[in-house]
Amino acid sequence: MNFRNFKMVGYVIYGRGAFNQLDEILLPNRKGGAPMIFLVDHFFEGKELAKRVPAKGKDKIIFVDVTYEPKTSYVDSIASQLKEEFGSVSGVIGIGGGSAMDLAKAVSLMMTNPGSSADYQGWDLVKCPGVYKAGIPTLSGTGAEVSRTTVLTGPEKKLGMNSDFTPFDQIILDPELTANAPVNQRFYTGMDCYIHCIESLTGTYLNEFSKSYGEKALQLCREVYVNKDSWDEESDDKLMMASYDGGMSIAYSQVGVAHAVSYGLSYLLGIKHGIGNCIVFNQLEEFYPEGVREFKYMVEKNQVDIPRNICANLTDEQFDKMIDVSLVMKPLWENALGKDWEKLMNRDRLRKLYERL
Ligand code: NAD
Ligand code: ZN
Repeated sequence: MNFRNFKMVGYVIYGRGAFNQLDEILLPNRKGGAPMIFLVDHFFEGKELAKRVPAKGKDKIIFVDVTYEPKTSYVDSIASQLKEEFGSVSGVIGIGGGSAMDLAKAVSLMMTNPGSSADYQGWDLVKCPGVYKAGIPTLSGTGAEVSRTTVLTGPEKKLGMNSDFTPFDQIILDPELTANAPVNQRFYTGMDCYIHCIESLTGTYLNEFSKSYGEKALQLCREVYVNKDSWDEESDDKLMMASYDGGMSIAYSQVGVAHAVSYGLSYLLGIKHGIGNCIVFNQLEEFYPEGVREFKYMVEKNQVDIPRNICANLTDEQFDKMIDVSLVMKPLWENALGKDWEKLMNRDRLRKLYERL
């Protein structure tokens, strides 16, 4: 048996108002005059949070466009712009949802690794540690704050830069930052966490480490989306920890069918991760009967819309592309269906699944 020796986030700070300590946290990580680069979700341009970013000297705030999920070309262009302007930087700080945090991780790595980020999409391809990087979530659910990947859409595939160099050196978990997220978005991203839990807890890779985090995260999701009648500060506190715990759970297990299928959707149709997972999970009774039942209850209780019939007008070629992207995710399928997954999931069955979405 060869156990995975996995790299975790370096430092964690949790609490309402923790964002105020960012300046102090960055100080010992500043290298001479080299600037800190803040990649801030474009939603915050002109908002109060942007004014609280402790930029000084040559530091730069870049409001990143997260209308689409991060592309390798976008990562490459930010990294080359920074190299041209500054030579080297002290660090890259991502402030936003999973997209802004993933951009920060990837740009940090591309400051020191040659070529294009597309060259590193896969498992353990990154050669050198990146520059110092910190992540500050403003939406809870993806677990991107703790994961060893940064999910990118490249010219050929949607796949993460999975490596021991990918996790953040520092994360700041401040639930105040998620307070004003729109209800639908908060639900879709929150359900990403719920789905992580179900996929991890029912998967064949499960062990006590993953289970202990997965069960706690699932309990927190239920407290927020099933038990509570309205959203309050405590909901933000709980969901932020659910996201972290859910991320820790999949770190030592894996996600499953919903993620494998939704990767195809987002590659072809540009559907974002949270909502894409919801669209897929809604149709996965055959794989996750109890989880899907509870999911439908939460959708109804929280009065959210899950789009239907999104694959109605696709061509054979388009279905094939989604199937290709999905089947690349071998560890996800193996976790969900076991070692012999290829006997259980083939192109035909997957096509029928996509047709139902
Ligand atoms: P997101 O980062 O794509 O943001 C969704 C929308 O919410 C954007 O319009 C953004 O501007 C807005 N937003 C963010 N914070 C807000 C706030 N506090 N108030 C109002 N609006 C706010 O959404 P997400 O679901 O957090 O992240 C999805 C991304 O994360 C995808 O790109 C996905 O691939 C990635 N992801 C990564 C991992 C990982 O382990 N690295 C895991 C899961 C998902
Ligand atoms: Zn996810």
